[in-house]
Amino acid sequence: MYRTVAQLDAVAAQLVATAPDLCTALPLPQSSIQGTPVSALRIAAPDGPPIDRRPGVLLIGGTHARELMNPDLLVELAVDLVAAYRNGTDVVLGNRTWPAAQLRAMLDTVALYLLPCVNPDGRTYVMTVDDMWRKNRRDNPGTKCDGVDLNRNADILWGVTEGQTSCAPCTDIYCGSGAFSEPENKNVKHLLDTYRVDHFADVHSFSELVIYPWGHAANQTTDPAQNFRTVPTGTCRPLGKPGYAEYIAPDDLAEFRTVAQRIVDEIAAVRGRRYSPEPGMTLYPTTGTHSDYAWSRHLADPALHKTYGYTIETGPSGDDAREAFHPRDPEPIKREAESGLLALLEVAAAG
Ligand SMILES: [Zn+2]
Repeated sequence: MYRTVAQLDAVAAQLVATAPDLCTALPLPQSSIQGTPVSALRIAAPDGPPIDRRPGVLLIGGTHARELMNPDLLVELAVDLVAAYRNGTDVVLGNRTWPAAQLRAMLDTVALYLLPCVNPDGRTYVMTVDDMWRKNRRDNPGTKCDGVDLNRNADILWGVTEGQTSCAPCTDIYCGSGAFSEPENKNVKHLLDTYRVDHFADVHSFSELVIYPWGHAANQTTDPAQNFRTVPTGTCRPLGKPGYAEYIAPDDLAEFRTVAQRIVDEIAAVRGRRYSPEPGMTLYPTTGTHSDYAWSRHLADPALHKTYGYTIETGPSGDDAREAFHPRDPEPIKREAESGLLALLEVAAAG
């Protein structure tokens, strides 16, 4: 029901082999901590502007190993887009049909980057040993506890242990020994450093959410001086600033809200499930996440491209966490999430 890492790779390789005009394999510089090679896939139609002048969309999945649905979803999205382009096949997702002509026009305009499985070792471990494993498979020195939480390891307030973030290796939310200490995370940074990415989404499970910044504190739009660049990192302590709220420019906040709502609406169009659009902080406080890192880059360094970053949490929560992380029937959840991701592509194509 869920593809192994080798099966995910095979789908991407097949697309590159059969549609080389559309699909390009992008081998990434880092193998996983246990030595598994990792590649991204780019889908962009041969007509239209040069790649570096197109709006870029980067979608990643499988950061948390046990969230098995999302790598499958991302390769299926790739298959559907290639079929739409080459065969004129509409993408039918429940009650929502994305017409082939529209998808073709989107692929003539944007460059889509997919990293379906950020954490291949973790996925293999989930499928063979422990179906509730979350982190990568880092052997942490001086402890019997393995693994780093790859969604706490990025260089945005790294090591500030606000809320659901920890410096303790035996927790499931361990941020690692340093920002981008983990090879799997270096690959995500590499993609953001190397290609133009206007919109980024990290697809997780579960809770039916479309999350936008910020994750570590409440948003405020009035005091630009109150911002993450003034906060010491690597402290292994919480923010420790009562009343601290993170600045976000009003037009940026409006953009995040508008696009998140668009994603929510296109998810709902498939079978009526209403995901909740909200800042990350509303779920629980976090630091070092992929999506806040993607957004923070141009603020930390104005020379970098501006990337809107989202985290999407697919599927409902429930009493049975196993069923929520890897449901017996993931098909309806994957299809509605696919529609939400196409909405992000549509936003990028519209400029
Ligand atoms: Zn997750």
